[in-house]
Amino acid sequence: MSVPNKSEFNQLSLEQYLKNYFGYDSFRLGQKEIIETALQQKDLLIIMPTGGGKSLCFQLPALLKLGLTIVVSPLISLMQDQVESLQDNGIAATFLNSTLSLTETRRRETNIIQGKIKLLYVAPERLLSEKFLPFLELINSQQSISTFAIDEAHCVSEWGHDFRPEYRQLQLLREIYPDVPMMALTATATKRVREDIITQLNLHKPYIHIASFFRSNLYYEVRQKTNTKNTFAETLQIIRTIGSSGIIYCNSRKRVDEIAYKLRQNHVSALPYHAGMSDEERSINQTKFIRDDVDVIVATVAFGMGIDKPDVRFVIHYDLPKNIEGYYQETGRSGRDGEPAQCILFFSYGDKKSIEYLIGQKVDEQEQRIAEQQLRRIINYAEASECRHRILLSYFGEDFLGNCGNCDNCKYPKPIEDWTIEAMKFLSCVARTKERFGMIYIIDILRGSKSQKVLNKRHDQLSTYGIGKDRTVEEWKNLAKSLLHQGLMDETTDGYSVLKLNQNSWEVMGRKAKVEIAIEKKRQIEKTTTSLAVDEQRLFEELRTLRKRIADEQSVPPTVVFQDTTLQQMAKKRPQTLDEFMNISGVGNWKLNKYGKKFIEKIKNYCLEYSLPIKSEPIRELAKVVDNFPSLTQIKTLELYKKGLSIDAIANERGVKISRIVGHLAELIEKEQAIDIDRLVKPKIQKEIIAAIEKVGDEKLKPIYEYLQERYTYDDIKLVRAFWRSDQLYF
Ligand code: ADP
Ligand code: ZN
Repeated sequence: MSVPNKSEFNQLSLEQYLKNYFGYDSFRLGQKEIIETALQQKDLLIIMPTGGGKSLCFQLPALLKLGLTIVVSPLISLMQDQVESLQDNGIAATFLNSTLSLTETRRRETNIIQGKIKLLYVAPERLLSEKFLPFLELINSQQSISTFAIDEAHCVSEWGHDFRPEYRQLQLLREIYPDVPMMALTATATKRVREDIITQLNLHKPYIHIASFFRSNLYYEVRQKTNTKNTFAETLQIIRTIGSSGIIYCNSRKRVDEIAYKLRQNHVSALPYHAGMSDEERSINQTKFIRDDVDVIVATVAFGMGIDKPDVRFVIHYDLPKNIEGYYQETGRSGRDGEPAQCILFFSYGDKKSIEYLIGQKVDEQEQRIAEQQLRRIINYAEASECRHRILLSYFGEDFLGNCGNCDNCKYPKPIEDWTIEAMKFLSCVARTKERFGMIYIIDILRGSKSQKVLNKRHDQLSTYGIGKDRTVEEWKNLAKSLLHQGLMDETTDGYSVLKLNQNSWEVMGRKAKVEIAIEKKRQIEKTTTSLAVDEQRLFEELRTLRKRIADEQSVPPTVVFQDTTLQQMAKKRPQTLDEFMNISGVGNWKLNKYGKKFIEKIKNYCLEYSLPIKSEPIRELAKVVDNFPSLTQIKTLELYKKGLSIDAIANERGVKISRIVGHLAELIEKEQAIDIDRLVKPKIQKEIIAAIEKVGDEKLKPIYEYLQERYTYDDIKLVRAFWRSDQLYF
């Protein structure tokens, strides 16, 4: 029988690090390649949609590399969230920003200099300030800087939607630290912005990773916004069907306040968020949302950048957004955890008019043209009958064949009907009223209205008066919009929207062209189904309550404790031992220790209550995998050892005593790491020590030391004993 080759066991794989630090079982598409490349000290440019898992791409390498990774992040709230959730995984991360007191800042700086921190988050303006640069130099000389990770890297480009001049200065980092690799990350980048990032940051032959922007878990739908009352009623229905949490975007502050108020009147817990509120108020409402103290946030576009809430289940656009880029970002804030979420846009021509008015106010002609073009594209999106995902992705230059199965147009294709006769009626009515009226008035005539205007103008005498009674106002509107959309009729843009005939209109009236239109149908909102059975759902709710209590005790968002997907798995698998618990995706070492017992107890109680099978085995204090995993400081020693440094040199480099390094190495050997004992202790000495251990046992060092007549040091004995112990596992 062959004994397994030890080196096969020794190396921890990236997957194992992923599980132990973050609790995840496998990498998402692209992550592993990115991390491997980062470990080779190369520059990287990473473009992934929101929720794609960008953070992990610099967080995991930061833990495995020597020195400190500096993360440039534009927003304070974003920094705090990320640092909180890293700390909740037991990872040494911190941030420096203006919210901290001087003493707290000093304390953190000391920790950084002492090498206790692996990830430091800072805003660009602070990083490049005159005070900070010398500190950076100090870090580099004492600990070394392993990487600069530039988050939201599109901010460096004027061509993006979020340009920040201070990002331009990041070039300086490259000049001062040409050898420190850079990783730029963003969720939005057109080709132009991409190129700009590379030039502006002076990335050196970067490995570029562009992930697909297709978010298969997001359901996209456009609804006609008929009148205020209906739209509100529909919104209410959506909220009641889907449940929390959700965001409603409106175009004005007034609208935000109004909708939030009306929702509360209807017993929905909702709060407003817009630039007209004080910083404090906004921050309170945001925190309440993130901590699940409020279900719905009604907001202007001011809300969102930096919101890292993974379990947002719907995003409703109450008003038409100004462009597709913004729309995709806003809706992209839902379903970050990969679970189903709904993105619903209410669309009306009135909204189009208000935006056109705003565009008209712009002084710069170029700006005006761009804005008009962007508006046209979002309107095309809203009116389209093809796959919504396809249209959105094509905006980002991605070819997607469509038929996603998860948008209104794919799920409920609108029936196409031949409306040539109706079109002829409509157009000839426009002709007979001498192309001087708008859509609503023409419909009035067609439907035989007895309004004063119609009677005064004697339009009840027209041959087209009342010939369209068989169709509803909505149906006529749908036809008129399609005629405009298909270029079969025009409309003035002077603010009066007078309908005009064109060449194509005459062809329709002369029966030379057929008119086919997509028929609008009202759709029921569907409940987003999680895959839980009824009893699983019940346990899930109980686990959620426990999570909320723990989160409140620690003042963190519930999803920092565990994400919904993790709780769902617990509800399904009902783990009752720490080993079983560790097998749940989303449970890493740290969380296992911190929360394992509480959740398992809850699950056991639940099983007891509902007479489900119970394991009698008591909960062990630690699962085996915990024992086996090296600590951060041990990993640091391991990295230096792998570089070929001797024990003395490692101790010197790390500024700690030799005996501590020996301690690390001994534990690393016991934890099955790739350490070659022959490099540390001469084989002849090993043999003698092993012989001694086999005589007097391995429990205490002193008897071994004395048995060998004090000929070898405690350090040698410790290392060999570790080797001997790890060897026992194989026989
Ligand atoms: P981004 O920064 O790209 O918007 P995040 O880094 O915040 O995305 O990741 C989105 C979500 O996906 C987070 O909740 C994160 O914990 C989770 N996630 C990231 N990588 C993995 C993985 N390999 N397995 C499971 N979940 C992951
Ligand atoms: Zn589709």
